Amino acid sequence: MLKKDKGLLIVLSGPAGVGKGTVCNALRGVNDRISYSVSATTRSPREGEQEGVNYFYKTKEVFEEMIANDELLEWAKYVDNYYGTPLHYVKEQLREGQDIILEIEVQGAAKVKEKYPDGVFIFLAPPNLDELRKRIEGRGTEDSDLINQRMNVAKAEIEMMAQYDYVVENDQVDNAVSKVQTIIDAEHLRQERV
Ligand code: 5GP
Repeated sequence: MLKKDKGLLIVLSGPAGVGKGTVCNALRGVNDRISYSVSATTRSPREGEQEGVNYFYKTKEVFEEMIANDELLEWAKYVDNYYGTPLHYVKEQLREGQDIILEIEVQGAAKVKEKYPDGVFIFLAPPNLDELRKRIEGRGTEDSDLINQRMNVAKAEIEMMAQYDYVVENDQVDNAVSKVQTIIDAEHLRQERV
């Protein structure tokens, strides 16, 4: 017997530069049943990023108010900036039976796990650290100091990988997307069976 319309909360983590954004965008092309949570952050927009599309850009004061008002499902500090998931949208999507993906770092993912133990936790891993550094450098949006900080956080994040339900190596975007989609399909079947 199947339970009807149960939306999955899917968490996609992985070190900055591993290609979470690229994988999520490609996933949109093959799966139109997923909603994407847009996070709030105090970091400044990168070139080409848009308010409400990539992030909701907030001042530190406004972000701290959001924390105080319990407007965030989780939040974390990452390389001197706050990042957090607006709670309202996640709840609404799940209530409507809609799958939703949260693209967040590991501390936040651990908090989501406490609140949504049925969530599907996927870690996107780089083929290796040299490749990761090349990808962060290739993006050209951070200076060398920030790249080093992000690499240090990346190493710590990779150590947390075993706490995830699934690890997907992002060797090639198409491969990674099809693995993520397979996980989503399998979790739907698993969670919808009584
Ligand atoms: P970036 O500055 O490269 O956009 O993001 C830095 C890190 O913050 C990435 O690992 C990204 O997944 C993570 N991140 C983005 N939004 C959120 C969020 O709402 N909560 C948490 N905990 N991490 C987030």
